[in-house]
Formats: sequence, structure tokens, C-alpha cells
Amino acid sequence: MTDRCGTARDLAQRRLDGERDPAAEAALNSHLAICPSCREIVAGLETVREGLRALPERPLPGVFLEDILDRTVRRERERVRAAVWAAWATAAAAATIVLSLILIRPGPPEAPAGDELARARREAGIALSLAAGAMREAERTARDRVIAERVAPALHRVPVRWSAFAASRKP
Ligand SMILES: [Zn+2]
Repeated sequence: MTDRCGTARDLAQRRLDGERDPAAEAALNSHLAICPSCREIVAGLETVREGLRALPERPLPGVFLEDILDRTVRRERERVRAAVWAAWATAAAAATIVLSLILIRPGPPEAPAGDELARARREAGIALSLAAGAMREAERTARDRVIAERVAPALHRVPVRWSAFAASRKP
């Protein structure tokens, strides 16, 4: 999957949500024309939507809804929040180590040399980008887990080419 695929899938999702934007529509269609994998996924999403629309509507007692939210979305949100904080703590620790290496040196205090500052800045940049990657990964993992554990079993009752959707999500 490329960046263009990610963009196309976002556009497809917005189209499914009812957004109408001719420029986005044209961009999506021209990507779908050349990308079988996205075509398959968008077709799957449309099948899911049609399947969900075809289901009979039944009133859901509020207490059930609260219970479902507690056991799915809210719980995952807590996990993501914990993972994001862990990533920030890692970045802060890395930045502290970098600063300590500059400031705690043997000998009389003196200003750090220009190249040391440049190196520290570079290393802090690396630590931050690693942390940002870890945060994205944590969010993606949590989202995939929700889909695999909660959404997929529910969708198995809907006529959808779920295997194609799942296969396309593998890294
Ligand atoms: Zn694609």
C-alpha cells in the first residue's frame, strides 16, 4: 500500500460518509482505475454499507449501547492514550539523555561547541521522530485490534468480501 492508497481510502471513506467533492471524486476515481487493491477495498466497503442498510432496524436499549461502548471503543481509547504517553515519556527521556551528555562533562564548565549542539539537535530530532512513529504505530495497532476482534465478527453476518479487506491490511 502506498501513500496514494491511504489518501484514496480516506477519500472513499468520506464519499461513503456522504461528502460530495468533485475534485476528490476525480482523484479517487483516477486512483481506483489503476489500483486493484483499493478497488477491491472500496467495493468491499460499499458492500458493507449496502449490507448494513439492508439490516432491519431495531431499537437498542441504552444500557446495552453503553456496555458495548465500554467494552470496545472506550477501552481501546484508554490503551491508545497509555501507549501515546509511553511514547512521549520515551522521547522526553531520550532528550534528557542527550542534554545530559552535553551539560555533564568532566572539566571546568564551558559552553558546548557548535558541532556538539548540532549533534544533540540531530539526536533529539531522531528521538522525536521515533516517538512519533511509535505513536502512529500504537494508534494503528489499537485500531486494527478493534477491527479484528470486535468489528470483523459482527461483519461476518453481512455478505462482504472480508478476506480481501483483511488481506489488504497486512503490512
Ligand atoms: Zn491504491
